[in-house]
Amino acid sequence: MIPNMHDAEAIPAEARAEIDRLFASGDLFRYHAAEDAPVSLLEREFADFMGSKYALAVSSCSAALFLSLVALDLPQGARVMIPGFTFAAVPSSIVHAGLVPVLCEVGDNYRIDMDDFAARLDGVSAVIVSHMRGHTSDMDAIMALCDDRGIPVIEDAAHSLGTLWGGRKIGTIGKVGCFSFQSYKLINAGEGGILVSDDADLIARAVILSGAYEHAWKKHKGPKGDNTGALDAAFARWQNKLPLYNLRMSNLSAAVIRPQIAHVPRRVADGRRNHDHVAQLIGQSPWIDVPAKLGPEERAPDSLQFNLVGMTDADVRDFVARAEAQGVKVQVFGLSQDNARAYWNWQFLPEMPDLPKTRAMLMRACDTRLPAKLTPEQCTAVAAVLTDAAAKTMEPVRAYGT
Ligand SMILES: *Cc1c(COP(=O)(O)O)cnc(C)c1O
Repeated sequence: MIPNMHDAEAIPAEARAEIDRLFASGDLFRYHAAEDAPVSLLEREFADFMGSKYALAVSSCSAALFLSLVALDLPQGARVMIPGFTFAAVPSSIVHAGLVPVLCEVGDNYRIDMDDFAARLDGVSAVIVSHMRGHTSDMDAIMALCDDRGIPVIEDAAHSLGTLWGGRKIGTIGKVGCFSFQSYKLINAGEGGILVSDDADLIARAVILSGAYEHAWKKHKGPKGDNTGALDAAFARWQNKLPLYNLRMSNLSAAVIRPQIAHVPRRVADGRRNHDHVAQLIGQSPWIDVPAKLGPEERAPDSLQFNLVGMTDADVRDFVARAEAQGVKVQVFGLSQDNARAYWNWQFLPEMPDLPKTRAMLMRACDTRLPAKLTPEQCTAVAAVLTDAAAKTMEPVRAYGT
């Protein structure tokens, strides 16, 4: 009854014909064809899908974050704020760019603690809002604080494709939005990433930095009907001025990604249905709390996070073992060894902060995959395993106490 929660959805069949065509021609490099290379077509389609002027496809979301930071042209050693709850690749992109990550507290609803964010903003030159596991922090408050101080905001929307904030697409609210096509995200190409922006100068820099050597940038275009010349003027400004990091995407990846864009609305709807169904069921357990989304947020989840309440570390481990024995794998971010989402494991950080709120959350926050392809019946079964495991862990305590 419990499905395999690790399996990905099949790649749409249309991808096969395009891959065969690329194999026959050997045309795998994005800048080989005179025009309409699959990577260029993906960039236009993704930008149009997001309602952004420009997109740049690259090798991963981490590469997109790194290029966004370098494209901001910050001085070496500048400080970049990120939430203390994210994936290790995010602070890594900052270190890679020669900058210093500054972590802020995250509340037990997995979102940036806005008081702590505001308190740490002095001396910060840029912010990466990592919408970790697709949980959207208060973008109105973040943008107001950052706009007020002229601090650029990069959105790490790796896990937020299809998420809306006040009707606006996550990834289009900050100066740049970065997405991932790694296998555990809504669009699966194994690896891959893309960044979107309306800023011609920033995109021109990112395009060249990504490895558009000589005049390859001529194959990057603005939106249809854009006659402003803003992009070409920006490219001319940066010709020969920037290093080439070669973080490009291959045409093979683009061929796998392009036919999946049309599936995004269905995957979002199914993922939200599954998430809300399981959340509603397990939320009835006295030992489980599923934090509510923020008001303006419309989510696109493909995984489930919840907090265990009133449990000791030993209880939490017992719960995890019981759930796993029944076929549902749960990870507690702060209790699983070497977890890449627990900030104290980022021992490469130049400054290791103490974040007591974030730490407390990580010690009780559970993570389980919940793919969009699950049926409502399968979701009900998953919820039953979780509720039952919590009850079996805690009921002896309760019986003893009453
Ligand atoms: C997956 C993920 C990343 C990294 O994406 P890659 O494409 O694997 O580099 C960064 N941030 C978040 C929030 C993620 O979920």
